[in-house]
Amino acid sequence: MQARLEALLETVQKPSRYTGGEVNEIKKDWAGKTTCCFAFPDTYEVAMSHLGMKVLYESINAQEDLLCERVMMPWTDMIEGLKEQGIPLYSLESRRALSAFDMVGFTLQYEMSYTNILKMLELGGIALHNKDRDENAPFVIAGGPCAFNPEPLAPFIDAFLLGDGEHATNEMLRAIGAGRKAGKNRAAILRDLAQIEGVYVPDLYEATYHEDGRLAAFTPLDKSAPLPVKKRIELDLNEAPFPTSIPVPYTQAVHDRIVLEIMRGCTRGCRFCQAGMLYRPVRERSPEQLFALAEQLVAATGYEEMSLSSLSTGDYSQLLELIKGLNERFCDQRVSLSLPSLRIDNQLQEALVDTAQVKKSGLTLAPEAGTQRLRDVINKGVTEEDLLRTVSEAFASGWNNVKLYFMIGLPYETDEDLLGIADLARKVVNCYYAIPKGQRARGLKVVVSASTFVPKPMTPFQWAAQDTLEEIRRKQALLRSALNIKGVTFNWHDPETSFLEACFARGDRRLAKVLYRAYELGCLLDGWNEHFKYDAWMQAFTDTGLDPAFYANRERDKDELMPWDLADIGVTKKYLWRENERARNAEVTPDCRLGCEGCGLTRFEGVCRG
Ligand code: SF4
Repeated sequence: MQARLEALLETVQKPSRYTGGEVNEIKKDWAGKTTCCFAFPDTYEVAMSHLGMKVLYESINAQEDLLCERVMMPWTDMIEGLKEQGIPLYSLESRRALSAFDMVGFTLQYEMSYTNILKMLELGGIALHNKDRDENAPFVIAGGPCAFNPEPLAPFIDAFLLGDGEHATNEMLRAIGAGRKAGKNRAAILRDLAQIEGVYVPDLYEATYHEDGRLAAFTPLDKSAPLPVKKRIELDLNEAPFPTSIPVPYTQAVHDRIVLEIMRGCTRGCRFCQAGMLYRPVRERSPEQLFALAEQLVAATGYEEMSLSSLSTGDYSQLLELIKGLNERFCDQRVSLSLPSLRIDNQLQEALVDTAQVKKSGLTLAPEAGTQRLRDVINKGVTEEDLLRTVSEAFASGWNNVKLYFMIGLPYETDEDLLGIADLARKVVNCYYAIPKGQRARGLKVVVSASTFVPKPMTPFQWAAQDTLEEIRRKQALLRSALNIKGVTFNWHDPETSFLEACFARGDRRLAKVLYRAYELGCLLDGWNEHFKYDAWMQAFTDTGLDPAFYANRERDKDELMPWDLADIGVTKKYLWRENERARNAEVTPDCRLGCEGCGLTRFEGVCRG
């Protein structure tokens, strides 16, 4: 097989996607170990930018009795080649087929990667449906943000992990290893997995439906199956593993740099934001630990760029100390620091001046909505004044490149809100020209991006209808003409992908049939425009007798049982509904660091004092 594989690799685009062997790759001896293959259902370049994979790769491999290798979604040329040559999809490290592992763990980062999971299982020699897997087959596990509504994938996955994976993944692997050693059958091991906090085993539950298609009940079929399934939380990030050395790809990754996770969770309470609800409470890594990690990572990788990652970097309590400390340590080595997703309302000015010493990358701001009223609806606590002050400071400090992110199709949005986006863009341009010519950088570039809003489970907008495709197209056209402003570029996307995302984000178990049919019809790599086959997806809905509008464009009743109500993330449905009502009245809820807003997390012992 090796010779055939080597020959195949000479014929495909970017063969380094499939060779492994990067600096800092970890190769362990298989003898006596419980084995896991971390499967990323998108290309190598996307996977290698994913922090979660790096965290688990190192933390699992740090355990003597466990082993972790990696596999990513191959590109179409490689898929064809593997099939032609009869080579199964294999891990980068030992080049073993996926079917040889004890566990194959997928990360669910976005809904449009779901067909890739089916393709990877097929290519790896693993039965697609969990009921068809024999005793020797790997346990197929899935985690990541989309696992919080696991139902559309329920027939394909043996167990989902809801929440933080650092310790839970090791526990799952050990349960599988111990179960196999003790001669337990698959069903018994699955029951063991269901005992681990955060683990949902879909086959231990049954879903029933009303005649009109709404979910009627969700029933455990076994007394070992908890309901609801409580999410897993790493309470102390300083105690949670973080990689000190990461594989350095030969080929350019999407984000080719060191990423330091400084904080997890967010208390701002933006009403559209799923991560903000899922990952409460806020937990910070100490600056001392971050300095030590950064030093080890720079030494191990030679990277010259580092970014700070969190949901709301500006809220990190010691941000200035951290940025200054990193600059002091690394400016001699020309390691630049980039600060993604900075909110624009606190401490930014000083931080900007600091990073300017190292690197002037573009300034990215996310007001999300064009008017104050709509920003209040979505609880994005940012004012126009904040934003304009920030860009003025940035222009005065030498920036000339600003990206502004908005969403369209938000609940309670009017055309006035859309025109507000153009208004804001115009004011940003004016801020630039207000700086005297000799004192500003040349060549202003303002990029306005408008994505289509997708209502997500476990947010205050989980009940909302998504705008229809026609309505989104009308809104995009309105914005296109309003944003015809010198110095401003407008980016938007066809809304079909967002429509499908909305179906699967809030889908139930029956959508698995659509997914399977779409896979049969050749859908894969749906996140890539050149491969996205909207017509085939619509065909899959027709063939399975399900209506996509039922999932995407339907407003839910307050008390409707949602497929994801099986999970308890700490934040209660009651709190989410209260936030939904406040949105209707454009009422703001303050950041709960200023006073507990009663989201429900205090029910989890020792997690948040409120
Ligand atoms: S329990 Fe209170 S303080 Fe804690 S995250 Fe929820 S709202 Fe914030």
